[in-house]
Amino acid sequence: MDKEEGTWNIEVVGEAIPEEDRTRIEKLPICQREGPDRVIWPYNKDGSYSVRSGYLSMKGSRHVRDGNRASSSHIVSKSTWKQIWKIQAPSKIKNFLWKACQNALATYQNLWKRRCCTTPTCQLCLHQEESVEHLLLCCDWVQKVWFGSSLAYHVDRQSITSFDFWLVGIFEMSSIKALDKMIMQTRVAFICWHIWKARNAATLEKKHLNAEQVIFLAERAASEYMEIKAFKEKGCLEILLFLF
Ligand SMILES: [Zn+2]
Repeated sequence: MDKEEGTWNIEVVGEAIPEEDRTRIEKLPICQREGPDRVIWPYNKDGSYSVRSGYLSMKGSRHVRDGNRASSSHIVSKSTWKQIWKIQAPSKIKNFLWKACQNALATYQNLWKRRCCTTPTCQLCLHQEESVEHLLLCCDWVQKVWFGSSLAYHVDRQSITSFDFWLVGIFEMSSIKALDKMIMQTRVAFICWHIWKARNAATLEKKHLNAEQVIFLAERAASEYMEIKAFKEKGCLEILLFLF
């Protein structure tokens, strides 16, 4: 490693390492911060081990070491993508959820890391860094949306390690019947999407944030989507009975 240049000095090892491995090494991002190496648990954001993340990593082998991002983060497996793709929701919303799982949204935290803005702080609460998890789950106004929605979901900030863990966890709630589960997943997807839209309108266009309105728009859009889908499929009377 060439510390001054911040690049891999791969020539040093010459032919001792196969070409394929040399290419892989060169793709690994080098941390720009000085400091000693340390052992990290790759399935938690802070690098520390927790029983929950250990259980989830064993259970589904969902997360593997990331070859493209910093070693303290993870990539999201194809099984998560398959779960997202099964959601009864428009493709744009499913793609949005997938980007959120991959930490690929333009949050202040991500923009700050790329030196595209001057602060990682959430501009809505000004209390914490705006990560994907903060933006979609933990910011004060967002918690009101989740709890005020038909899901009456209380966000337990302490239990959230990453958005994809949370999403898979809530989708796998075994106590829910299949039909209810499908509706719940659709509502979760639409709520996330409308939170994102409202957040963008508030931060980029300085529009007023209104949690009640976000709940109303998300629930209405989810119901209309399921209604149209049920009519198209001509058979999902159960869905219609649930909705009305
Ligand atoms: Zn906030």
